[in-house]
Amino acid sequence: MAPRIGIIGGGIGGLTLALALRRRGLTADVFEQASELREIGAAVALSANATRELERLGCLDAIAALSCQPSELIWRGWTDDGRVAAFPVARDGAYRARFGAPYFGIHRADLQRVLGTAHGPDRLHLGHRLLALVPEGDAIVLQFANGHTTRVDVLVGADGVRSQVRQFVAGEERAAYSGTSAFRGIVPVRDLPSLPDPQALQFWMGPNAHLLHYAIGPSGKDVNFFAVVEGPERWAHETWTAPAAPDEATVAFAGWHPAVVEMVSAVPHKVRWGLFTVRPLQTWCRGRAVLLGDAAHGMLPHHGQGANTTIEDSITLAELLPARLQDFEAAMQRYQMLRRARTRIIQRSSRATNASLHLPDNAVAGRSARLARFPERFGWIHEFDALKDVTSRAASVLTVRQKAWSLGHAADTVAD
Ligand SMILES: Cc1cc2nc3c(=O)[nH]c(=O)nc-3n(C[C@H](O)[C@H](O)[C@H](O)COP(=O)(O)OP(=O)(O)OC[C@H]3O[C@@H](n4cnc5c(N)ncnc54)[C@H](O)[C@@H]3O)c2cc1C
Repeated sequence: MAPRIGIIGGGIGGLTLALALRRRGLTADVFEQASELREIGAAVALSANATRELERLGCLDAIAALSCQPSELIWRGWTDDGRVAAFPVARDGAYRARFGAPYFGIHRADLQRVLGTAHGPDRLHLGHRLLALVPEGDAIVLQFANGHTTRVDVLVGADGVRSQVRQFVAGEERAAYSGTSAFRGIVPVRDLPSLPDPQALQFWMGPNAHLLHYAIGPSGKDVNFFAVVEGPERWAHETWTAPAAPDEATVAFAGWHPAVVEMVSAVPHKVRWGLFTVRPLQTWCRGRAVLLGDAAHGMLPHHGQGANTTIEDSITLAELLPARLQDFEAAMQRYQMLRRARTRIIQRSSRATNASLHLPDNAVAGRSARLARFPERFGWIHEFDALKDVTSRAASVLTVRQKAWSLGHAADTVAD
């Protein structure tokens, strides 16, 4: 009999996993605490390592219809619009030619909707917040806040950076505050008269802060921005957001290039978002429970890889979840082995990138040279093919290539 698979979390990871399992002929029930699939006011950049998988899952046309591709990737300083480094993305088809799949900026709600529609309503249980999980023999009983209980043979924790399933798998591993926070918003391009290259994905880098933006939606008429500042030192809130004084964001970016000031001033900032990570876990599975995505490796968003590596996890896990439960433990060891090294390196590099983006003016000389080699140094993130990786690698050992790759990239960041 096929195992009963329960996925906690109907976010990007949970839904992608359910679709990937279906491709293998396995079905899963997705339990999502929200009463509808939506995420307001935020966007996501999908890189080739994820879009090649979404294409295989048959979702890419629907995503492409709701997205736009950045013309270029550009870094600038904080006061003038001189380019520190720049590379074509959509321009001349450069990114797709190099990595074999496109780069898209999309509203997160649109991505959720595409994945949710592809999954269908039948096994998507909205309004189901997991309260407790109780092992019963080899199975796990799930108890939800709405009073519903169910029994599964395999439980996947795709419940995000504050995962409850992680507590069961790894003990009291709480999300760790990074010491940085962000103001974010979506602004029509027409309200940004000073913005050079509005269709590009751009970083503006200054002392103790940076602002990243890219166009989203089919026509690229809106710009999603993410303005990161150092501090506050401690996060004394149980929530993602903390109240912000009306002028906190504009004060943090006062004196920056007019395009940055226009962007930050264009939306009211009632809150700031704390940026959290998950410390590298020793194990991603316990008994019949296993983690994926932010629950396993929540990372800073400075490589734009949280969602993309989560999609990779989903593909790998779907390929490895065995139809026969006798093989579960060995399969999950392999899943952990394949995913832990890569996600740790990207996690570490994202953290170091924060420091590099926030350098004082007197320390930026080496950074320009490093950014000029960005495609050579970080192409490995984008060229990765999770499906090929899991189907082609030997069952239980790291290949020589993987070992070399891990060693070669362990220290590779845009920081010193
Ligand atoms: C501001 C910001 C910008 C980002 N930009 C990018 C980007 O450009 N590119 C990128 O790759 N990544 C980006 N990320 C990271 C990305 O959003 C995450 O890595 C990704 O969403 C992780 O997917 P997930 O499925 O693991 O978790 P989530 O998408 O967080 O989904 C978890 C789901 O679990 C549900 N859930 C939680 N607890 C329970 C429970 N007890 N019971 C039932 N359901 C539960 C939640 O409601 C949610 O729907 C960004 C993150 C932030 C904060």
